Amino acid sequence: MALLEVEDLTVKFYTEEGVVTAVDGLSFHIERGETFGVVGESGAGKSVTALSVLRLIEEPGRIESGTVRFDGEDLLSMSESDVRDVRGNDIAMIFQDAQTALNPVYTVGEQIAEAVRHHLDYDDTAARKRAIRLLDDVGIPEPAARYDDYPHEFSGGMQQRVVIAMALSCDPDLLIADEPTTALDVTIEAKILDRLEHLAEEYDTAIQLITHDLGVIAEMCDRVMVMYAGRAVEKATVEELYYDPKHPYTVGLMSAIPRIGDEQDRLQTIPGTMPDLVEVPSGCSFHPRCPFAEEVCTRKQPALVDPDTGDAVGLSDRAAACLAYTGDLDSELDYEVEVTGRDAPPSEPQSNSRIHAPDAEQHRADSDPLPADSDPVGSDTDLLDQDDPDEDTGGQQDG
Ligand code: SF4
Repeated sequence: MALLEVEDLTVKFYTEEGVVTAVDGLSFHIERGETFGVVGESGAGKSVTALSVLRLIEEPGRIESGTVRFDGEDLLSMSESDVRDVRGNDIAMIFQDAQTALNPVYTVGEQIAEAVRHHLDYDDTAARKRAIRLLDDVGIPEPAARYDDYPHEFSGGMQQRVVIAMALSCDPDLLIADEPTTALDVTIEAKILDRLEHLAEEYDTAIQLITHDLGVIAEMCDRVMVMYAGRAVEKATVEELYYDPKHPYTVGLMSAIPRIGDEQDRLQTIPGTMPDLVEVPSGCSFHPRCPFAEEVCTRKQPALVDPDTGDAVGLSDRAAACLAYTGDLDSELDYEVEVTGRDAPPSEPQSNSRIHAPDAEQHRADSDPLPADSDPVGSDTDLLDQDDPDEDTGGQQDG
């Protein structure tokens, strides 16, 4: 039995603009002790999925259907007080913005100790001792002295370490980390991810790592789920995803990774933006941006299938949702993955894999055009500029 099993999860938000289907029939699982990556642009449904697991979806949002089983227990049918026990004790979450996760009027040590007292029933002395050890574990120098400092006396990187210490304070089985290093510079990011990985091993904690950064996925994860417009479009191990991506959206994300020594003037990009989830495009929701889209893609929704056999998959590790794998396309997906030094670890994707995906407009010119009303988007939008900074730092339901 997997540690976490999410099946057919659907979450909607009833807004004035209309019904937003943020997560649509999503299924995945996380094994004990593994690091599972969830990747996609803002609006893909990543954060909403995480908040649903913890039953933290607030009005006007609603979990419409599905099951979320943690250690065999269905979290969605538990009483609120039972779910509260699971939060912090068994599943902890690291939010994007450490500043908002910490209370400015309590010392950092007291905030960790409070969580320990509450969840583990420790007395004051034991809670303080554990908090100091956790501060030490996450790399805070002179932890006993820094215990009495307030959050504003810590740098951004140190604040995020404190948040990680808080999340680990009760030795959770699952840690959900939602863009834990978004607000930090790359040097601090590398240190924090390294520390997180090390601690997860030491505490035998599974991690659900949410990010839009495939480089972070390569560094940290065992398996990956790529999300687009509320649905899973590809699932794979990290090696499979980097060496043999199956979905055109994954190919686009991979092509947009800057590589050391690359002589291109501009990064390859995925044209357009994530669709408005009130009015998701018909058929395959990726079709307005997909360089391989054919007319059938505008009316038939692809199922998540085994890309080798075209058979439907349940919680399988290898799957892609593209009509190319169910025999519905006239043409093949004609991109190339160039791998140099296959023995190199996938933690260095910049140096060992490169994808030659066709230019969307050129491909369309060469193949059957989409119907006039399918409104393919322009080709000059840079994927790496898609994330709304306000959403990333403030919103917790940005997806
Ligand atoms: S189903 Fe069509 S539009 Fe969707 S990813 Fe496959 S080729 Fe592209």
